[in-house]
Amino acid sequence: MSGWTLERTYTTLPPLFFSPVTPTPVREPSFVVLNAPLAEALGLDVQALETDAGAYLLAGNHLPPGAQPIAQAYAGHQFGHFTALGDGRAILLGEQITPDGRRVDIQLKGAGRTPYSRRGDGRAAVGPMLRELIVSEAMHALGIPTTRSLAVVATGEPVFREDVLPGAVLTRVAASHIRVGTFQWAAAHQDVGALRALADYTIARHDPALAGMPDPYRAFFDAVVDRQAALVAQWQSVGFIHGVMNTDNMAISGETIDYGPCAFMDDYDPGTVFSSIDAHGRYAYGNQPPIAQWNLTRLAEAMLPLFDADRDKAIAVATVAVERFIERFEHEWLTRMRAKLGLFTAEPGDDELIEALLDWMQETHADFTRTFSALATVGAAEQLAHEQEAFRGWFERWRTRLGRQPQSPAEATARMQASSPVVIPRNHAVEAAIAAAAAQTDLEPLNQLIEGLRQPYDYTRARPDILAPPTQPDPAYRTFCGT
Ligand code: AMP
Ligand code: MG
Repeated sequence: MSGWTLERTYTTLPPLFFSPVTPTPVREPSFVVLNAPLAEALGLDVQALETDAGAYLLAGNHLPPGAQPIAQAYAGHQFGHFTALGDGRAILLGEQITPDGRRVDIQLKGAGRTPYSRRGDGRAAVGPMLRELIVSEAMHALGIPTTRSLAVVATGEPVFREDVLPGAVLTRVAASHIRVGTFQWAAAHQDVGALRALADYTIARHDPALAGMPDPYRAFFDAVVDRQAALVAQWQSVGFIHGVMNTDNMAISGETIDYGPCAFMDDYDPGTVFSSIDAHGRYAYGNQPPIAQWNLTRLAEAMLPLFDADRDKAIAVATVAVERFIERFEHEWLTRMRAKLGLFTAEPGDDELIEALLDWMQETHADFTRTFSALATVGAAEQLAHEQEAFRGWFERWRTRLGRQPQSPAEATARMQASSPVVIPRNHAVEAAIAAAAAQTDLEPLNQLIEGLRQPYDYTRARPDILAPPTQPDPAYRTFCGT
């Protein structure tokens, strides 16, 4: 058996939420990457999958058993402006039931046009799909909730952008693809029945324990807030910049989704923006928490009819619920940052201690990942304090603070190493691996990179050269939306 167990509960929703659509076959499917560990975790037969037949399947040329392909409808605020969207180049095959009992969407990204394609070609290029695979798998290894990437299959066909590029299909695996924008889609149709059906479906899928509560929609909204607060705190704690936090790119499940112009920050600066389309820095590193809250406010607006039949009362409920994000985020952020400093206990001055370190990092253009991994490496922070006068004051303060907790220095180091990755997907490495692979010449840097990113908290492992931090940070580094 090939291991497919596809179900299709999403199609029980009102027809407003999806359109049946068939993937458009491509000329010559061939694997660029097959993520074997993920295939196994999904219960798929890796040997059967890593064949030509498997490549045909993950290119959309053949359908796996049980598939009922659809494109999902949704709306979204893109850079603050409301638009009707939908899967313009992604096709959901169905929901795989994994051996450990999870239900996950299997989606082909770049599999051809859909009723929501607007002027787009429904296709994707190898480069951006590899970027999504590399970064999403790195995020997973970092322990950050994320959609996964099962494969990138080259199509053997060109896609026409500013340049002619090799085409590809990415197989995305997600807890679901229900977005803030999916709720906005229902709300925009002013169809409370459809909105309620979506909310009930989403609760059953992601928060089944809430279904019987007296006020399930309010409890569900709180759960979404909690997940986003935790998620964005995790992003901040590793220097991840999503790059395009439109409401259609925020998943209700709390997974990181829609890797476009994302990148990890090198030198610490809250104003860091990589995306070429984000001219005003709306989605800069330091703006991610308030933007998450802004997006949740749009979700609350969409859900108003479910909070209370009386609009004023519903708004009062929503206002309180959205406010909760701030305290939740601050709690999550402090928890993560304390761990990065090796702290087990909580003291009132801890936030100042963290801010003082970040201020020093910003002033001295310190590399985010390297600074925290130095704190977690015995002797490295002492060395830094010895070399840099400006760091010494903070270092002494930190050491005094560590001395006030009962845990040993070794325990503190272990905590720091578990919270501060020693490697991240560095921009130069991602670019180099993609360039070598996209030219169809050399998959070695790509495979080294993917492999090297699998254990980011292991301080003892030897790393391939491609994972060394940049010798010179590149202030002009830009990422491009993967269309
Ligand atoms: P994204 O920037 O990837 O979040 O996409 C925003 C919207 O544009 C979504 O509705 C996508 O489905 C759609 N889209 C992006 N690229 C294409 C394409 N090449 N063809 C059709 N639709 C696209
Ligand atoms: Mg999107």
